[in-house]
Amino acid sequence: MAWRSSGATNTALVQNLTGNGLITSDRVKTAMMNVDRAHYAPTHPYEDSPQSIGHRATISAPHMHAAACEHLLPYLQPGSRVLDIGSGSGYLTAVFAELIKPGGAVVGVDHIQPLVDLATANAQKSAAGREMLASGLVRFVRADGRLGWKEDAPYDAIHVGAAAAEHHQTLVDQLKAPGRLFVPVEEGWVQHIWVVDKKEDGSVERKKLFGVQYVPLTDAPAG
Ligand code: SAH
Repeated sequence: MAWRSSGATNTALVQNLTGNGLITSDRVKTAMMNVDRAHYAPTHPYEDSPQSIGHRATISAPHMHAAACEHLLPYLQPGSRVLDIGSGSGYLTAVFAELIKPGGAVVGVDHIQPLVDLATANAQKSAAGREMLASGLVRFVRADGRLGWKEDAPYDAIHVGAAAAEHHQTLVDQLKAPGRLFVPVEEGWVQHIWVVDKKEDGSVERKKLFGVQYVPLTDAPAG
């Protein structure tokens, strides 16, 4: 159960997620150990639940971040190129960077400028985060993520941190072959995680995984 993984420290949280079978890979464990959630979650950073970051956005629960990393892991190798759509707090973008360094690049896209600024400020709280930004390993940009981020495409892995109203072909187009997309998609009142694989021959396979509750992937707010 999700709440059982909460801990008093970042280390305890990651250990509990591992003990509860929510993290199975040592690489994911190490990456999540190396990024202190307290730099990204303004409240209860070591609780296994989502927390508000303002602008109607939340930093997702740690077990969801772990699930995203675990499912994308074969495509998160040293040197990989990654797109994190709906980067919000910037936490998962930083964890992806831990998984693909040395080399590689992660672009975090959010459509709310104050959240792009927040993610950058959060990363700047640690020496490792400052180094990620300075070296270009991590970049945060403002854009409508439904269109992906063409400039750095194609990507080995694309993560979407907000629920899409439809299957966006543009995102599949921006995947390498092979490459993988992890995306929550709305179907009526419910949302499910889909994993979309573009295979080496360019063919596409979609798998529906499990039910979730994400903030919607929407139009940018006015102003
Ligand atoms: N992975 C983030 C999740 C943040 S919540 C984290 O754990 O911190 C979802 C985010 O998606 C919000 O920051 C919201 O601003 C962003 N978002 C919603 N619609 C978007 C769109 N069309 N383009 C880019 N970002 C979007």
